[in-house]
Amino acid sequence: METPANDLRTATDLLRRKGLRSTVQRRAVLDALRSGSHATAAEVEARIEDAEPAGGLSRQGLYNVLDDLTHAGLVRCIEPAGSPARYELRVGDNHHHLVCRGCGRIEDVDCTVGAAPCMDPLDAKGFSLDEAEITWWGLCEVCRKAEAAG
Ligand SMILES: [Zn+2]
Ligand SMILES: [Zn+2]
Ligand SMILES: [Zn+2]
Repeated sequence: METPANDLRTATDLLRRKGLRSTVQRRAVLDALRSGSHATAAEVEARIEDAEPAGGLSRQGLYNVLDDLTHAGLVRCIEPAGSPARYELRVGDNHHHLVCRGCGRIEDVDCTVGAAPCMDPLDAKGFSLDEAEITWWGLCEVCRKAEAAG
C-alpha cells in the first residue's frame, strides 16, 4: 500500500494547507488517526486520552472536530452498515473497503480505475455523479479459518 500523502506532513501543515486554524484539538485528532485507520470516534477519544490524559475534549467537541476535518477533506468518513462511523486520513484516492461480517475488520483496497466515480450506473437519471462508494462484504481469513475449525 502506498503511503498516504497525509502521513508525510505534520498536523499543523495539513490544517494550514486547508486554511483551518491549527488548534490543539484538531492536531490531537489528526495525530490519533495516524496511529490507526478506520477508527471510531470512541477509539479516537481513547487515543487522545492515552496521549494526553488532561487533554479535555468532550465527546461533542470531538464530533465537531471530526466534522470540520471531514468537511475540509482532511479526513474521510465511512459508515459501513451496522458499524459506527469510522474515520481515516487516507483521502482523495478513491480507495475502497473490504469489511468482514464476522469481526468487523476493515481493509483498504486500491481502486482499479483510480478516478471517481469508477463505476457508471446503467441510467444516471440525469444526476451528475462524482462517486461510487464500493464496499465488499465477506469473511476475513481469520474468521474463515475459525469457521472451518467449527
Ligand atoms: Zn473477520
Ligand atoms: Zn480506508
Ligand atoms: Zn473503484
